[in-house]
Amino acid sequence: MTGAVAGLVLSLGLIAPSVPAVAATNYDIDSASSQQVVVNKHRALNPASYVPATLVRVQGERLRAEAADAYKQLAKAAKADGVNIMPISGYRSFSQQASLYDSYVRQYGQTTADTLAARPGHSEHQTGLAMDIGNASGTCALQACFASTPAGQWAAEHGPEHGFIIRYPAGAEDITGYTYEPWHLRYVGKALALDMQTRQMATLEQYFELEAAPDYLP
Ligand SMILES: [Zn+2]
Repeated sequence: MTGAVAGLVLSLGLIAPSVPAVAATNYDIDSASSQQVVVNKHRALNPASYVPATLVRVQGERLRAEAADAYKQLAKAAKADGVNIMPISGYRSFSQQASLYDSYVRQYGQTTADTLAARPGHSEHQTGLAMDIGNASGTCALQACFASTPAGQWAAEHGPEHGFIIRYPAGAEDITGYTYEPWHLRYVGKALALDMQTRQMATLEQYFELEAAPDYLP
């Protein structure tokens, strides 16, 4: 197809409806330091020992600077709406993640542990872009019922305006590999978060047309 014809086809809208959500090339989903890096059970951080260059403290937790700024804006906007959101867990290093994962394995066995926490090198918390949030009251902390609390409802509705998505939505366990975590916010930047919301794409895997990652590869 010549450029002129391609341009005409595009301008007539003949291609647009079937065009993929967004070409993955628009974002860097591979580099550990990218705001849009996709980490899951099939996609380890590279290097697995990645440590963000700059971590900023937010109420006792740490996030990468840009995610920390966005988180503060989110918490402030929530407060203006009468909702008190508290950070529970932000950045975790490879070794911190290893300790957490190992404790789950000892407590529940590996199969269940893999649905609850990422193996080290596979955690969004290691990117410095993820924050587990809770209500200031502590209601339903790290439980599915968090979704119907004020903080859970507010974050689901307004998170994208501040660049955050609910990374492990309900009903997407076969894609993300994790049970519903309405408290786990992942910073991806406003443009991507809002576009996912507009297109009603619940997961990064669907948005970037990546394979589902329900389990670790053998
Ligand atoms: Zn989390």
